[in-house]
Amino acid sequence: MNYQYDYIIVGSGLFGSIFAYECMRKKKKVLIVERRNHIGGNIYCELKDNIYIHKYGAHIFHTSNKKVWDYINTFVEFNHYINSPVANYKGEIYNLPFNMNTFSKMWGISTPEQAAEKIAKQRAVITKEPQNLEEQAISLVGMDIYNKLIKGYTEKQWGRDCRELPAFIIKRLPVRYTYDNNYFNDRYQGIPIGGYNLIIEKMINNCEIILNDDFNLKKEYYKKLAPKIIYTGAIDAYFNYALGKLEYRGLRFETERLEIENYQGIAVMNFTEREIPYTRIIEHKHFDFGTQPVTYITKEYPCEWQEGQEAYYPVNDVKNQALYKEYEKLARKEENVIFGGRLAEYKYYDMDKVIESALETCQRELN
Ligand code: FAD
Ligand code: UDP
Repeated sequence: MNYQYDYIIVGSGLFGSIFAYECMRKKKKVLIVERRNHIGGNIYCELKDNIYIHKYGAHIFHTSNKKVWDYINTFVEFNHYINSPVANYKGEIYNLPFNMNTFSKMWGISTPEQAAEKIAKQRAVITKEPQNLEEQAISLVGMDIYNKLIKGYTEKQWGRDCRELPAFIIKRLPVRYTYDNNYFNDRYQGIPIGGYNLIIEKMINNCEIILNDDFNLKKEYYKKLAPKIIYTGAIDAYFNYALGKLEYRGLRFETERLEIENYQGIAVMNFTEREIPYTRIIEHKHFDFGTQPVTYITKEYPCEWQEGQEAYYPVNDVKNQALYKEYEKLARKEENVIFGGRLAEYKYYDMDKVIESALETCQRELN
């Protein structure tokens, strides 16, 4: 059969864009199909008053993988931003991630030994291997921090009781017995100078792109255009939810322009009490050390995902993981389709992990 393209790439997020870029380097012809009215997926930014607005939530690049860091630096340079958010619990401000500054504010102590003693006492209620997020959190940082900084935030974020959530979600956060507010442990970190869009634009500048089109509504048509598909949308949507719907968390972003220079003094402030409906306020200019006379803030409201909305976080609990495994079996039978990225692999991937996974796919597929 005579095909028009070598690959149809569904989705112009990081995964799809890297695949497209590597195809171009190998002189392969690709067509990108994107449902949204812009490229870039969730890392897309809007420039307003010279401030990059992270349209789909705060994105801070961090990795320990030198290969990934070197790769992404071929497209853009990064600034020296280090994420060190604070938690606001009923007006009390605590440093994150959980470290000596947090412990000192919480208990009025000053040495690692005193902090360890406090936590050891409070974690004594957990006697077995933690089975869920609540047990894991208490066993890591004790009851006080769990109650003030974790429980409310997590239950808002995931819309579920902490006892129904997997322990691994909280293990993403470092716990340190040093006065170090760096949210990540990774070797490399920063925000792209000139914005995230620059990365995607450089990757897919020369590709044919169709915006505002949902591949799943025209699957048969697109499949005739190329022998192979790279699919980065939701895996259950690809199969028309044949086995049932996977659960995702949705988000609603409320952005305001304020006629002041500095609203909260930090890029990310988490609101950890249950009663405030949003989880965090982002003040975008601080990602780039902005000095503009105005500012933009975004409140992030978590919500249950419904068909037709953007799916932001896979809910990787036992029930959903089991359903995903069934979809994965179906996916393996689709010989001409490669499923990749956060939605198609139903994984809580950060950007660096998506890059890693995309580069591995390119290595397997294009060499
Ligand atoms: P996406 O960016 O989701 O791209 C998929 C693309 O496919 C989208 O453009 C979508 O519109 C399109 N698509 C889907 N279905 C179809 C269809 N049927 N037809 C056509 N097109 C379709 N990572 C970090 O490293 N650091 C952070 O600080 C960070 N913060 C985050 C904050 C939030 C709120 C969220 C939600 C994620 C965050 N991430 C962060 C994760 C990061 O966004 C992802 O790792 C990365 O963007 C995933 O890239 P992707 O290509 O897999 O998916
Ligand atoms: N978390 C919390 N309190 C906070 C920040 C995070 O309890 O102030 C928990 C929450 O369960 C969250 C998880 O830690 O889902 C991971 O946080 P992270 O900041 O990595 O989440 P993301 O940026 O991906 O939304």
